[in-house]
Amino acid sequence: MALMITDECINCDVCESECPNDAISQGEEIYEIAAGRCTECVGHHATSQCVEVCPVDCIVLNPDVVETEEQLYEKYLTLGGR
Ligand code: SF4
Ligand code: SF4
Repeated sequence: MALMITDECINCDVCESECPNDAISQGEEIYEIAAGRCTECVGHHATSQCVEVCPVDCIVLNPDVVETEEQLYEKYLTLGGR
């Protein structure tokens, strides 16, 4: 599953630079995760880096983007790593 940012986001900007896939950007009101670029950090890190740094724990699983570990790894390969 890709992750998503809830409206609890306080726009602190800490997560954006932590994402190895450049999946996070500032949206109109809060930060957003491009589901097509989020691998849950599979291929790069053992844990989701954005979740690790978010001070208000507002990054959660996106229930609309269900993916297996294998699919996340395929996505990582498609994105070319970094
Ligand atoms: S889980 Fe990893 S890949 Fe997904 S948005 Fe967070 S830092 Fe980026
Ligand atoms: S770290 Fe959390 S609160 Fe800060 S911008 Fe990212 S999602 Fe929003």
